[in-house]
Amino acid sequence: MNYKEKYDVIVAGGGPSGIGAAISAARNGIKVLLVEQAGYLGGIATNGCVPAFCPYTDGEKLVIGGIGLEVLNNMKKECAESPFYDNKPGRLKEYDWVPIDPEVLKRVTEQMVVKSNCDLLLHTVITNVNYSDGRLESLVVHNKSGNFTIGARYFIDCTGDADLVAQAGGIYEYGDKDGLVQAGTLCFRIANLDIEKFMKYAKETGEDGNLNIAASKAKAMGEFPENERYVSGIALQGGGMAGLNFGHIYHLNPLDGEDLTRAEIEAREKLPELMKFLNKYVPGAEQAVLASSGPVIGLRESRRIVGDYKLTIEDYYKRAYFEDTIARYSYPIDIHAATPDEDDYGKNREYVTSRYKIGEAYSIPYRSLLPVGFKNLLVAGRTISSDRAMMASVRVMPACFATGEAAGAAAAICVKEGLDLRELPIQKLLETLSGQGAILDFQR
Ligand SMILES: Cc1cc2nc3c(=O)[nH]c(=O)nc-3n(C[C@H](O)[C@H](O)[C@H](O)COP(=O)(O)OP(=O)(O)OC[C@H]3O[C@@H](n4cnc5c(N)ncnc54)[C@H](O)[C@@H]3O)c2cc1C
Repeated sequence: MNYKEKYDVIVAGGGPSGIGAAISAARNGIKVLLVEQAGYLGGIATNGCVPAFCPYTDGEKLVIGGIGLEVLNNMKKECAESPFYDNKPGRLKEYDWVPIDPEVLKRVTEQMVVKSNCDLLLHTVITNVNYSDGRLESLVVHNKSGNFTIGARYFIDCTGDADLVAQAGGIYEYGDKDGLVQAGTLCFRIANLDIEKFMKYAKETGEDGNLNIAASKAKAMGEFPENERYVSGIALQGGGMAGLNFGHIYHLNPLDGEDLTRAEIEAREKLPELMKFLNKYVPGAEQAVLASSGPVIGLRESRRIVGDYKLTIEDYYKRAYFEDTIARYSYPIDIHAATPDEDDYGKNREYVTSRYKIGEAYSIPYRSLLPVGFKNLLVAGRTISSDRAMMASVRVMPACFATGEAAGAAAAICVKEGLDLRELPIQKLLETLSGQGAILDFQR
C-alpha cells in the first residue's frame, strides 16, 4: 500500500454498502482502497451485533443477488443453520432472516475484500475531506500512524452517516419534522440457551422471532422491561447461542458524541433487566447468560443525502420502476419509535399496513446514489437519497449491499472510460451489474 499514490476509487466505511462497493469496484480491475474506523468489517452487522439479515427475497424468489448474496452464502457455509424458521408462505428459510455470526462475518468479508485486490485500511477514521469546485480531491484520515491525506479520482461514501457529504458541506436531510430519529438498540448475544427446549416451546405455542407470547405474559405480570413494547427479534445461532435485537434507547442523536456516550451507558445499564425477562419468561433461556453486546450501540437512522432523485413513500406504494434501476427490494417501511411515548407502529401504522404481497418489489434508481453538487462522489447504503419513510426500507443490509455494489461498478466504469458520474451510460452499468449476479430483471 502506498497512500502517496492516488487511488482510482476510495470507499469510505466498511459496512454492507462499503463491502459491496469495494469488492465490486476492485473486481472490475481498478485500484481501490477501503477505509474503515473499526478493526474489522461488517458495519452495524458486526459492530452493532445485529442478529440476522433481513430478507433477500420477495417471499418467493431472490431479489438481492451479487456480492450481498455471496457474503450470505459464504457466511452460512461456516454457521449452524437456525432451527427456528421454517419455510412458510412469504419466507424462504435459506435466504430470509438468516442469523448472523459476527465472528464468521468479520473474517468472511475481510477475505472477500482482500481477495478482490482491494487495499484495506482498518483502524482509520476519516476526519475531513479536501474539496473544491464540486470535486473531492482527498480524504483527511487519522490512525496510529498520525494524520495524513489520501487522494483518489472517485469516492464512495458508505459511512452510514454520509460523513463525506457533510464534511464537504453538501446538503442532506435528517430525522422527522421535529428532528428526531428512530431509537437505537444495543444488540447482544446470549449463551447457554437450551435450543431444543426453546424449539419445543416455540413449536407447541407458535412463539415467533419477536417472543410475543413471552412478552405478553411478562406484561400481564408487570414484569416486561420498562419502556419496551416488544422484542425486535431473536435469532438462534447454534451451540446454545442466540442474538437479540432487544431494548430501545430513545431521544438520541447519532451525530453527537455526548449523546452517543449517554446512549451506550443507558443501553448497557438496561441489559440485566432484559436478561431477567429472558431468564424468567422464555423457556430454554432459564440458564442463559449474556455473552457479549455491541461492541457499540446500533443506530437505525442518520443523515439522508439530497440526491438527483429522492425515493419517496409514493414510490413504495406504486412499486416504482425506473429506467436506471440498479436494485430492487421489497422490505416494508420499518420505522422504530423515536421517543418512548410514541408507539412504534402507532404513529407509523399507515406504513405497516402497506406491506407488499409476495412477489412485489420497488426499484432503486442510480440517481439516488448521486449527491447534488458533487461530480466524483457516490453514496451507498442507508444514506442514499430518500424520504424518511423510504429510508426505513432501504436501510436494511441486503439493500445496502446492492446499492454499494452498484456504486462500485459505476465508479469503475467511469474510471475506465474517463467519464463523470452523470455521463455514465446506464445500459453499460446494468449489463455490468447483471454480469456480477445482481438481480435486475423484474416486472414493470
Ligand atoms: C439495532 C439495529 C438493528 C438492525 N436490524 C437489522 C436486521 O435485523 N437486518 C438487517 O438486514 N438490517 C438491520 N439493521 C439495519 C442495518 O444494520 C444498517 O442499516 C446497515 O448496516 C447500514 O449499512 P451501511 O453500509 O449503510 O452502514 P453501516 O453498517 O453503518 O456501515 C458504515 C461503516 O462505516 C464506518 N465509518 C463511519 N464513519 C466513518 C468515518 N468517519 N471514518 C471511517 N469509517 C467510518 C463505520 O465504522 C461502519 O463500519 C439494523 C440496524 C440497527 C441499528
